[in-house]
This record gives sequence, structure tokens and C-alpha cells, in this order.
Amino acid sequence: MNKNSSNTMALAPNTSNKRETVCIFGTGDFGRALGRKMIQSGYPVVFGSRSTQTSSLIPKGAEVFSHAEAAQKAAIIILAIQRQHYNFLIPLAEILRGKVLVDVSNNLKINQYPESNAEYLAQLVPGAKVVKAFNTVSAWALQSGTLDASRQVFVCGDDMEAKQMVMDIVRALGLTPVDQGSLLAAQEIENYPLQLFPMWKFPILLSLALTAFFFFYCLARNVIYPYVYENKDFSFFIAISIPNRICPIVALILLALVYLPGVLAAIIQLYRGTKYRRFPDWLDKWMLCRKQLGLVALAFASLHVLYTLVIPIRSFVRWRLGSQIISQALNNKTEPLNTTNAWLSDSYLALGILGFFLFVLLGITSLPSVSNNVNWREFQFVQSKLGYLTLILCTAHTLVYGGNRFLSPSSYRWYLPNAYMLSLIFPCIVLVVKFVLILPCLDKPLTRIRQGWERNPQYSE
Ligand code: NAP
Repeated sequence: MNKNSSNTMALAPNTSNKRETVCIFGTGDFGRALGRKMIQSGYPVVFGSRSTQTSSLIPKGAEVFSHAEAAQKAAIIILAIQRQHYNFLIPLAEILRGKVLVDVSNNLKINQYPESNAEYLAQLVPGAKVVKAFNTVSAWALQSGTLDASRQVFVCGDDMEAKQMVMDIVRALGLTPVDQGSLLAAQEIENYPLQLFPMWKFPILLSLALTAFFFFYCLARNVIYPYVYENKDFSFFIAISIPNRICPIVALILLALVYLPGVLAAIIQLYRGTKYRRFPDWLDKWMLCRKQLGLVALAFASLHVLYTLVIPIRSFVRWRLGSQIISQALNNKTEPLNTTNAWLSDSYLALGILGFFLFVLLGITSLPSVSNNVNWREFQFVQSKLGYLTLILCTAHTLVYGGNRFLSPSSYRWYLPNAYMLSLIFPCIVLVVKFVLILPCLDKPLTRIRQGWERNPQYSE
């Protein structure tokens, strides 16, 4: 490779405290914000621009030159310019030979071009050492100093030395470089800032769909049915009663859906007799968003707790209680305490309290700051053992709430069962299948498969 002397100097390890000059092409928002931050960190900065006139916007201490002049003054050139303008670099190819070219660009859409911007740059200027970095940091965050959410800077490139130089700059700016490997990773790094909560999409859409379904289901059963057949107006149920039915139902179904893919994966592995074949894509994706499913479930369970707390102060509840007392007084007849009902009511409340406590514990352990402090076995224990215990307690809470109403024909309206009965389908399937899977005749082969044993090895020795 044809290295000129200034490049060789710049690529040598930096032993003195003096920082190497950095060149930034483009005096737009990002170029200026990065330039200012670099000057604050002690780097001499020169800008390469189409216009060499300095303006008050240029950070104090920086100089502005033509692209060719500026490029000659530094071994590292940061390209703060949109990809569609990269063609202006072609005539500069000779000057850029051997220099480190840092691509910071982002696109407007995921996979907008067949190749990443950084790979495109490497094709345009083949003599330069292209490194992808800084695209996940915003100009606003650099200017305002609010870099907490974007402290990590993903860096990738084919030249180790060039990548190291860029990572040193990242560190000097008070950020954390994360080496993502070769330039092949650039596309992924460029897509990263364009993603909108990718892991949350499925859990949120699913919970919205379940909420809508159960809202109309409860509306039909608890508001429209009494209005049509009994001429009673229970439309106010829409405010508290129906949400307080939907929240626990959605929470329980989502919690069951956190554990269902694990159970399905175990069945697939037992059936195939190996763990070395990929799961179907849908199962893979489902397993990847289990944490988010669990957290959305926890949000619904928390809402259920809040709705439940206001029950005693509801006007409808106070009216019903008052009219019961008055009718007993008028009839001069007190109803004896039904201890069976008292047991059922206290048990379902106790199961709900314990289930919610474990639910919160699961949510807390899924936070990165907590999960980073436990080892794999401890994490497994909490998420699997305590997770199943939570599912058992929450399912039991719902079963006991139903009490003996499950079989009563009056609880069916328009042949529709109570909504909470539907919420029990998934948890019961998961718990029954899990119970079958822990039977030694299935658990032993499954454990062996997970340790690498194969029924029909594909590659026999
Ligand atoms: P910008 O404000 O539009 O600035 C781009 C600069 O490119 C212009 O100021 C101009 O500088 C130069 N330029 C424009 N047309 C040119 C052409 N035909 N030939 C040569 N140079 C040209 O954009 P920006 O927000 O600073 O973004 C710059 C790059 O940083 C983009 O690739 C963007 O994706 C990336 N980025 C931006 C942010 C952000 O928060 N803004 C965050 C991460 C990454 P001169 O007038 O000095 O020539």
C-alpha cells in the first residue's frame, strides 16, 4: 500500500498527550456538533467544506479549508455528509489514499440501498481505510451533552489499526466504543437507529388486539345483554368494571404466552431428537420477545391492581352494599356468614397478592441492571422456576375467582362463557404440557438432547 509520510506518522501509536488533528468534511449540524465536542476534548479540528468562508456557526478554534486542503492536514477524515453526495470524493481519491475515512451516515429507511453506506464509500475510495462509527449518536445529544442514552458507539471496519484509532477518539470524547467487527456489520449498524422498538412491536400489537377483543366481548355480555333482556343500563361498566376484567385477562394470557414457546420448543426437540436443527422462524422471533411480553403482562397486571383498589369507593358498589343491608333490615332477617364463600374470596385475594408479588419480582430481575448482576443459573431459576410459580398462582387466582360459577348455566349469556374462563385456556395448556414434560420419561431425554445428545446423529464419527 502506498502510504505517504503524514499518514505513517498519524497511524503510529499516540504516545504524547498531544492529540492528532482530525478533519471533518461537511459543516452541517452533525459535523459542527462533533467538531465542537472534539475541540473540547483537545483535538485540533479542520473542516473541509464547499465554502471556505468561516461563519459564526463554526466551532471556535476550528479552521475551514477546501476538501483537498483539509484532507491533507489529517490522517482521519470524518465524513459528515449525506451518502447521495459522496461522488465529490472521487476526484479526491489520490489525496485520500491511506487515510482513515469515518462514515457516520444514516439512511431514511431500513436497508434503503443494496449495500451499506460505508461499503459504498469503500468502493468509491478504494485506497482509503473506511470505518463506520458515530451514526447512533445524534447532533442534538452531542451539543446538549445528554449522551446517556447513546453513550455506546458501534464501530466496524476492515482495518484493525484504523478502527483502533477511531475507537481511541470515541473514548476521548467520553463515549464507549463497541467493536462490531468488519465492515460487513455496517448495514446492521446503519439500520439500528431506524428501528422503532423492534422487540416491542409483537407484544404491543398482540395486547392491543386482545384488549379490543375482550372489550367487545365484555361489552356484549355485561352491557348489551342486560340492556336487551332485562332493560338495565350498565353502560357505566365501561369505565371501571370492564377494564378491570380486561386487564387481568390480558395479563394472564400474555404471561402464559411467555412460557408457551419454551414448551413448544421442548416438544419440537423431543420430536426431532436433536437440538441442532433450527426452530421455525416464528418460534425464534416469539422466543426473542418473551421479556417484552412479560413486561407488557406486568403492566396490565399493575393496572388490574389499581382498578381493584378503587372498588370500595365506587358508587355502584356502595349502593349495592347499602341496599343489601336495608333489605335485610326491612325483612328483619340477617344472612348468616357463608364460610365457603369467605374462604373462596380470601383465597383468591391471597393468590392474587402472591402472584402479583412474584410478577413484580420477575419484572425487576429482567431489568439489565439486575440481570447483569446474577449468573446464568440464578437468572434461569428466577425466570423459569419463579416464572412458572407466578403462572400457577395467577391461574389459581382466576380459577378460585370463578369458584362454582364455572358450571352454572346462568353465567352463560348468548352461550358465551364469562371472559375470565377464556383467559384460562392458554395458562392451563402451558401448565398441563409443562407438567407432562417434567415427567422423568420425557425430562431425561430432553435434558440429554439439550446437552448435545442426538437420536440420529447427522455427522457420525
Ligand atoms: P446536514 O446538516 O444536511 O449537513 C450536511 C453537510 O454536507 C452540509 O452542511 C454540507 O457541508 C455538506 N454537503 C451538502 N451537499 C454536498 C455536496 N453536494 N457535496 C459535498 N458536500 C455537501 O446534515 P447533518 O445532519 O449534519 O448530517 C450529516 C451526516 O451525518 C449524514 O450522513 C447523517 O446521516 C449523519 N448523522 C447525522 C446525525 C444528526 O443528528 N444530524 C446523527 C448521526 C448521523 P458544506 O456546506 O460545509 O460543504
